[in-house]
Amino acid sequence: MIMAYQQENETALRAVATASHLLKGIQNDLKRSIQKKDKTPVTVADYGSQAVICKIINDAFPEDPIVAEEDSKELSKPEHAEILSRVTHYVSASTPRVSPTEVRQWIDLGSGPVSRRYWTLDPIDGTKGFLRGDQYAIALALIEDGTVRVGTLACPNITLDTHGWHRGQGGLFAAVRGQGATQLDIGGGSGNEIRVSNINSPPEALLTESLEPAHSDQQLNLELARKLGIRRPPLRMDSQAKYAILARGEASIYIRIPSPQTPDYREKIWDHAAGSILVEEAGGRVSDALGRELDFRSGKRLEKNYGIIVTNGKLHEKVVNALGPFLP
Ligand code: AMP
Ligand code: MG
Repeated sequence: MIMAYQQENETALRAVATASHLLKGIQNDLKRSIQKKDKTPVTVADYGSQAVICKIINDAFPEDPIVAEEDSKELSKPEHAEILSRVTHYVSASTPRVSPTEVRQWIDLGSGPVSRRYWTLDPIDGTKGFLRGDQYAIALALIEDGTVRVGTLACPNITLDTHGWHRGQGGLFAAVRGQGATQLDIGGGSGNEIRVSNINSPPEALLTESLEPAHSDQQLNLELARKLGIRRPPLRMDSQAKYAILARGEASIYIRIPSPQTPDYREKIWDHAAGSILVEEAGGRVSDALGRELDFRSGKRLEKNYGIIVTNGKLHEKVVNALGPFLP
Protein backbone atom coordinates (compact mmCIF):
# COMPACT_ATOMS: atom_id res chain seq x y z
CA MET A 1 0.00 0.00 0.00
CA ILE A 2 1.29 3.46 -0.84
CA MET A 3 0.91 5.80 2.13
CA ALA A 4 0.11 9.49 1.70
CA TYR A 5 3.23 11.63 1.26
CA GLN A 6 5.45 8.55 0.92
CA GLN A 7 7.40 9.97 -2.02
CA GLU A 8 7.83 13.31 -0.24
CA ASN A 9 9.03 11.60 2.94
CA GLU A 10 11.48 9.30 1.15
CA THR A 11 12.86 12.12 -0.99
CA ALA A 12 13.28 14.40 2.03
CA LEU A 13 15.11 11.65 3.94
CA ARG A 14 17.42 11.02 1.01
CA ALA A 15 18.09 14.77 0.70
CA VAL A 16 19.00 15.35 4.36
CA ALA A 17 21.07 12.15 4.51
CA THR A 18 23.06 13.31 1.45
CA ALA A 19 23.64 16.70 3.06
CA SER A 20 24.59 15.06 6.34
CA HIS A 21 27.28 13.07 4.56
CA LEU A 22 28.62 16.25 2.96
CA LEU A 23 28.67 18.09 6.30
CA LYS A 24 30.44 15.26 8.11
CA GLY A 25 33.16 15.48 5.47
CA ILE A 26 33.55 19.21 6.06
CA GLN A 27 33.61 18.68 9.82
CA ASN A 28 36.38 16.09 9.53
CA ASP A 29 38.43 18.53 7.47
CA LEU A 30 37.64 21.21 10.05
CA LYS A 31 39.11 19.06 12.83
CA ARG A 32 42.36 18.90 10.91
CA SER A 33 42.55 22.63 10.18
CA ILE A 34 44.50 24.78 12.61
CA GLN A 35 42.46 27.95 12.02
CA LYS A 36 39.80 27.22 14.67
CA LYS A 37 38.44 30.75 14.62
CA ASP A 38 37.91 30.67 10.87
CA LYS A 39 34.17 30.85 10.11
CA THR A 40 34.47 29.88 6.41
CA PRO A 41 33.92 26.14 6.95
CA VAL A 42 30.38 26.80 8.18
CA THR A 43 29.73 29.14 5.24
CA VAL A 44 30.93 26.48 2.81
CA ALA A 45 28.87 23.87 4.67
CA ASP A 46 25.69 26.00 4.65
CA TYR A 47 25.86 26.57 0.89
CA GLY A 48 26.85 22.97 0.13
CA SER A 49 24.02 21.50 2.18
CA GLN A 50 21.46 23.84 0.61
CA ALA A 51 22.69 23.08 -2.93
CA VAL A 52 22.39 19.29 -2.68
CA ILE A 53 19.04 19.34 -0.87
CA CYS A 54 17.41 21.88 -3.23
CA LYS A 55 18.65 19.89 -6.24
CA ILE A 56 17.16 16.61 -4.93
CA ILE A 57 13.81 18.19 -3.99
CA ASN A 58 13.59 20.11 -7.26
CA ASP A 59 14.34 17.01 -9.36
CA ALA A 60 11.53 15.09 -7.63
CA PHE A 61 9.02 17.95 -7.25
CA PRO A 62 9.83 20.61 -9.88
CA GLU A 63 6.60 22.52 -9.21
CA ASP A 64 7.21 22.98 -5.48
CA PRO A 65 8.80 26.22 -4.24
CA ILE A 66 11.55 25.88 -1.62
CA VAL A 67 12.02 28.58 1.02
CA ALA A 68 15.54 28.17 2.37
CA GLU A 69 17.79 30.25 4.58
CA GLU A 70 20.60 31.05 2.11
CA ASP A 71 20.96 32.51 -1.40
CA SER A 72 23.97 32.76 -3.70
CA LYS A 73 24.22 36.58 -3.96
CA GLU A 74 27.40 36.80 -1.86
CA LEU A 75 28.92 33.82 -3.65
CA SER A 76 28.69 35.58 -7.01
CA LYS A 77 31.15 38.29 -5.90
CA PRO A 78 34.68 37.83 -7.32
CA GLU A 79 36.23 38.03 -3.84
CA HIS A 80 34.27 34.91 -2.87
CA ALA A 81 35.37 32.77 -5.81
CA GLU A 82 37.54 30.69 -3.49
CA ILE A 83 34.55 29.87 -1.25
CA LEU A 84 32.43 28.95 -4.29
CA SER A 85 35.16 26.64 -5.50
CA ARG A 86 35.27 24.92 -2.09
CA VAL A 87 31.48 24.52 -2.07
CA THR A 88 31.68 23.03 -5.57
CA HIS A 89 34.41 20.63 -4.41
CA TYR A 90 32.22 19.21 -1.61
CA VAL A 91 29.05 19.08 -3.75
CA SER A 92 31.05 17.16 -6.41
CA ALA A 93 31.37 14.24 -3.98
CA SER A 94 27.64 13.53 -4.39
CA THR A 95 27.29 14.83 -7.98
CA PRO A 96 30.48 14.58 -10.07
CA ARG A 97 31.24 17.16 -12.80
CA VAL A 98 29.02 19.87 -11.35
CA SER A 99 30.11 23.41 -12.26
CA PRO A 100 30.27 26.42 -9.88
CA THR A 101 27.50 28.06 -11.91
CA GLU A 102 25.23 25.05 -11.43
CA VAL A 103 25.99 25.01 -7.71
CA ARG A 104 24.85 28.63 -7.49
CA GLN A 105 21.69 27.81 -9.45
CA TRP A 106 20.90 24.93 -7.10
CA ILE A 107 21.37 27.17 -4.05
CA ASP A 108 18.96 29.69 -5.58
CA LEU A 109 16.28 27.03 -6.04
CA GLY A 110 15.81 27.83 -2.35
CA SER A 111 14.61 31.40 -3.01
CA GLY A 112 11.00 30.41 -3.62
CA PRO A 113 7.94 32.10 -2.12
CA VAL A 114 5.81 30.95 0.81
CA SER A 115 2.83 29.47 -1.07
CA ARG A 116 -0.10 27.09 -0.61
CA ARG A 117 2.36 24.18 -0.85
CA TYR A 118 6.08 24.77 -0.22
CA TRP A 119 9.18 23.25 1.35
CA THR A 120 11.24 25.04 3.94
CA LEU A 121 14.88 24.28 4.62
CA ASP A 122 17.52 25.14 7.18
CA PRO A 123 20.70 23.71 5.60
CA ILE A 124 22.53 23.94 8.95
CA ASP A 125 20.51 24.70 12.03
CA GLY A 126 22.79 25.48 14.97
CA THR A 127 25.83 26.75 13.05
CA LYS A 128 27.57 27.51 16.35
CA GLY A 129 27.13 23.88 17.40
CA PHE A 130 28.52 22.80 14.04
CA LEU A 131 31.68 24.87 14.58
CA ARG A 132 32.13 23.59 18.13
CA GLY A 133 31.60 19.98 17.03
CA ASP A 134 28.41 19.84 19.14
CA GLN A 135 24.82 19.26 18.03
CA TYR A 136 23.48 20.70 14.79
CA ALA A 137 20.67 19.69 12.45
CA ILE A 138 19.58 19.76 8.84
CA ALA A 139 15.89 20.58 8.82
CA LEU A 140 13.52 20.10 5.89
CA ALA A 141 9.72 20.24 5.93
CA LEU A 142 6.78 20.32 3.53
CA ILE A 143 3.93 22.71 4.34
CA GLU A 144 0.46 22.70 2.79
CA ASP A 145 -2.26 25.22 3.60
CA GLY A 146 -0.27 26.43 6.60
CA THR A 147 0.10 22.94 8.12
CA VAL A 148 3.36 20.99 8.21
CA ARG A 149 2.71 17.66 6.43
CA VAL A 150 6.17 16.11 6.32
CA GLY A 151 9.19 16.90 8.49
CA THR A 152 12.70 15.49 8.37
CA LEU A 153 15.66 16.22 10.63
CA ALA A 154 19.20 14.95 10.28
CA CYS A 155 21.18 15.27 13.50
CA PRO A 156 24.66 14.10 12.45
CA ASN A 157 26.13 14.19 15.98
CA ILE A 158 23.28 12.74 18.04
CA THR A 159 23.43 9.35 19.74
CA LEU A 160 20.79 6.78 18.87
CA ASP A 161 20.50 5.41 22.40
CA THR A 162 19.40 7.43 25.43
CA HIS A 163 21.28 10.51 26.63
CA GLY A 164 21.24 11.96 23.14
CA TRP A 165 23.05 15.09 24.15
CA HIS A 166 26.42 13.37 24.07
CA ARG A 167 28.15 13.24 20.75
CA GLY A 168 27.17 10.16 18.77
CA GLN A 169 27.03 8.58 15.35
CA GLY A 170 24.06 10.57 14.12
CA GLY A 171 20.39 9.96 13.52
CA LEU A 172 17.59 10.81 11.12
CA PHE A 173 14.10 11.73 12.31
CA ALA A 174 11.00 11.67 10.13
CA ALA A 175 7.34 12.47 10.61
CA VAL A 176 4.33 12.48 8.31
CA ARG A 177 1.07 14.04 9.54
CA GLY A 178 -1.15 11.30 10.95
CA GLN A 179 1.49 8.58 10.54
CA GLY A 180 3.69 8.96 13.62
CA ALA A 181 7.35 9.82 14.16
CA THR A 182 10.36 7.63 13.42
CA GLN A 183 14.04 7.59 14.26
CA LEU A 184 16.41 6.02 11.74
CA ASP A 185 20.08 5.21 11.59
CA ILE A 186 21.85 7.83 9.49
CA GLY A 187 23.40 5.11 7.34
CA GLY A 188 19.97 3.74 6.34
CA GLY A 189 17.73 1.03 7.78
CA SER A 190 14.12 0.63 8.76
CA GLY A 191 13.89 2.81 11.87
CA ASN A 192 11.77 2.67 14.99
CA GLU A 193 8.78 4.65 16.16
CA ILE A 194 9.46 7.25 18.86
CA ARG A 195 7.15 8.65 21.56
CA VAL A 196 7.30 11.57 23.96
CA SER A 197 7.67 10.97 27.71
CA ASN A 198 4.72 10.09 29.97
CA ILE A 199 5.63 12.58 32.67
CA ASN A 200 2.71 14.63 33.97
CA SER A 201 4.31 16.10 37.06
CA PRO A 202 6.55 19.12 36.26
CA PRO A 203 9.17 18.44 38.97
CA GLU A 204 10.12 15.24 37.13
CA ALA A 205 10.52 16.97 33.78
CA LEU A 206 13.80 17.77 32.10
CA LEU A 207 13.71 21.21 30.47
CA THR A 208 15.80 21.83 27.36
CA GLU A 209 16.81 25.22 26.00
CA SER A 210 19.19 26.85 23.55
CA LEU A 211 22.85 26.76 24.44
CA GLU A 212 23.36 30.25 23.00
CA PRO A 213 22.30 32.80 25.65
CA ALA A 214 21.31 35.30 22.93
CA HIS A 215 18.73 32.93 21.38
CA SER A 216 16.27 32.81 24.28
CA ASP A 217 15.63 34.17 27.77
CA GLN A 218 17.57 31.76 30.01
CA GLN A 219 16.88 33.84 33.13
CA LEU A 220 13.13 33.57 32.51
CA ASN A 221 13.50 29.80 32.03
CA LEU A 222 15.34 29.56 35.34
CA GLU A 223 12.54 31.39 37.17
CA LEU A 224 9.86 29.36 35.39
CA ALA A 225 11.62 26.10 36.28
CA ARG A 226 11.76 27.19 39.91
CA LYS A 227 8.04 27.99 39.87
CA LEU A 228 7.25 24.58 38.34
CA GLY A 229 9.44 22.83 40.91
CA ILE A 230 11.77 21.42 38.26
CA ARG A 231 14.77 19.98 40.08
CA ARG A 232 17.26 19.19 37.34
CA PRO A 233 19.31 21.95 35.65
CA PRO A 234 18.25 22.74 32.07
CA LEU A 235 19.74 20.72 29.25
CA ARG A 236 21.37 23.24 26.89
CA MET A 237 21.71 22.11 23.32
CA ASP A 238 22.06 23.70 19.87
CA SER A 239 19.61 23.32 17.01
CA GLN A 240 16.38 21.38 16.46
CA ALA A 241 18.10 18.36 18.04
CA LYS A 242 16.13 19.69 21.05
CA TYR A 243 12.88 18.74 19.28
CA ALA A 244 14.33 15.30 18.49
CA ILE A 245 15.26 14.46 22.08
CA LEU A 246 11.87 15.72 23.27
CA ALA A 247 10.11 13.59 20.63
CA ARG A 248 11.86 10.47 21.91
CA GLY A 249 11.07 11.19 25.54
CA GLU A 250 14.44 12.32 26.94
CA ALA A 251 13.30 15.88 27.66
CA SER A 252 9.71 16.97 28.31
CA ILE A 253 9.74 20.78 28.05
CA TYR A 254 11.47 23.13 25.60
CA ILE A 255 10.97 26.88 26.05
CA ARG A 256 12.14 29.63 23.71
CA ILE A 257 11.13 33.17 24.64
CA PRO A 258 12.97 36.06 22.91
CA SER A 259 15.94 37.29 24.91
CA PRO A 260 15.52 40.78 26.49
CA GLN A 261 18.29 41.92 24.10
CA THR A 262 16.15 41.09 21.05
CA PRO A 263 12.54 41.47 22.24
CA ASP A 264 11.19 41.90 18.71
CA TYR A 265 12.79 38.73 17.35
CA ARG A 266 10.34 36.56 15.44
CA GLU A 267 11.11 32.89 14.92
CA LYS A 268 11.97 31.66 11.41
CA ILE A 269 9.77 29.01 9.76
CA TRP A 270 12.75 26.74 8.96
CA ASP A 271 13.80 26.71 12.63
CA HIS A 272 10.52 25.07 13.72
CA ALA A 273 8.64 23.39 10.84
CA ALA A 274 10.40 20.01 10.86
CA GLY A 275 10.92 19.90 14.64
CA SER A 276 7.31 20.76 15.44
CA ILE A 277 5.71 17.98 13.35
CA LEU A 278 8.21 15.50 14.79
CA VAL A 279 7.11 16.28 18.35
CA GLU A 280 3.41 16.41 17.45
CA GLU A 281 3.54 13.04 15.70
CA ALA A 282 5.40 11.59 18.70
CA GLY A 283 2.42 12.61 20.86
CA GLY A 284 3.60 16.02 22.09
CA ARG A 285 2.39 19.59 21.64
CA VAL A 286 3.89 22.73 20.13
CA SER A 287 2.53 26.26 20.47
CA ASP A 288 3.75 29.80 20.89
CA ALA A 289 4.25 31.33 24.34
CA LEU A 290 0.55 32.24 24.54
CA GLY A 291 -0.62 28.73 23.59
CA ARG A 292 -1.44 29.66 19.97
CA GLU A 293 -0.81 27.34 17.04
CA LEU A 294 2.27 28.16 14.91
CA ASP A 295 1.29 29.94 11.70
CA PHE A 296 3.33 28.86 8.70
CA ARG A 297 1.54 30.94 6.06
CA SER A 298 2.65 34.49 6.87
CA GLY A 299 6.14 34.51 5.36
CA LYS A 300 9.65 33.54 6.39
CA ARG A 301 9.00 34.55 9.98
CA LEU A 302 6.31 33.27 12.33
CA GLU A 303 4.79 36.78 12.30
CA LYS A 304 1.66 35.87 14.23
CA ASN A 305 3.48 34.05 17.03
CA TYR A 306 5.60 35.04 20.01
CA GLY A 307 8.12 32.55 21.40
CA ILE A 308 7.77 28.76 21.37
CA ILE A 309 6.64 26.17 23.92
CA VAL A 310 7.16 22.48 23.23
CA THR A 311 6.08 19.75 25.65
CA ASN A 312 5.16 16.09 25.83
CA GLY A 313 1.50 17.23 25.69
CA LYS A 314 0.59 16.23 29.25
CA LEU A 315 2.53 19.21 30.63
CA HIS A 316 1.47 21.74 28.01
CA GLU A 317 -1.33 23.57 29.78
CA LYS A 318 0.61 23.67 33.05
CA VAL A 319 3.58 25.26 31.30
CA VAL A 320 1.48 27.77 29.32
CA ASN A 321 -0.33 28.83 32.52
CA ALA A 322 2.87 29.08 34.57
CA LEU A 323 4.58 31.11 31.87
CA GLY A 324 1.79 33.70 31.46
CA PRO A 325 2.81 36.04 34.32
CA PHE A 326 6.43 36.15 33.05
CA LEU A 327 5.53 37.45 29.60
CA PRO A 328 5.94 41.13 28.68
P1 AMP B 1 19.52 27.28 18.65
O1 AMP B 1 20.58 26.38 18.16
O2 AMP B 1 18.35 26.57 19.25
O3 AMP B 1 20.05 28.36 19.52
O4 AMP B 1 18.87 27.97 17.39
C1 AMP B 1 19.60 28.39 16.29
C2 AMP B 1 18.75 29.35 15.51
O5 AMP B 1 18.51 30.52 16.28
C3 AMP B 1 19.36 29.88 14.25
O6 AMP B 1 19.03 29.05 13.16
C4 AMP B 1 18.77 31.26 14.08
O7 AMP B 1 17.81 31.31 13.04
C5 AMP B 1 18.07 31.52 15.39
N1 AMP B 1 18.34 32.83 15.97
C6 AMP B 1 19.23 33.77 15.58
N2 AMP B 1 19.14 34.87 16.36
C7 AMP B 1 18.18 34.64 17.27
C8 AMP B 1 17.61 35.38 18.34
N3 AMP B 1 18.04 36.62 18.65
N4 AMP B 1 16.61 34.82 19.07
C9 AMP B 1 16.18 33.58 18.78
N5 AMP B 1 16.68 32.81 17.78
C10 AMP B 1 17.66 33.33 17.03
MG1 MG C 1 18.39 27.62 12.09
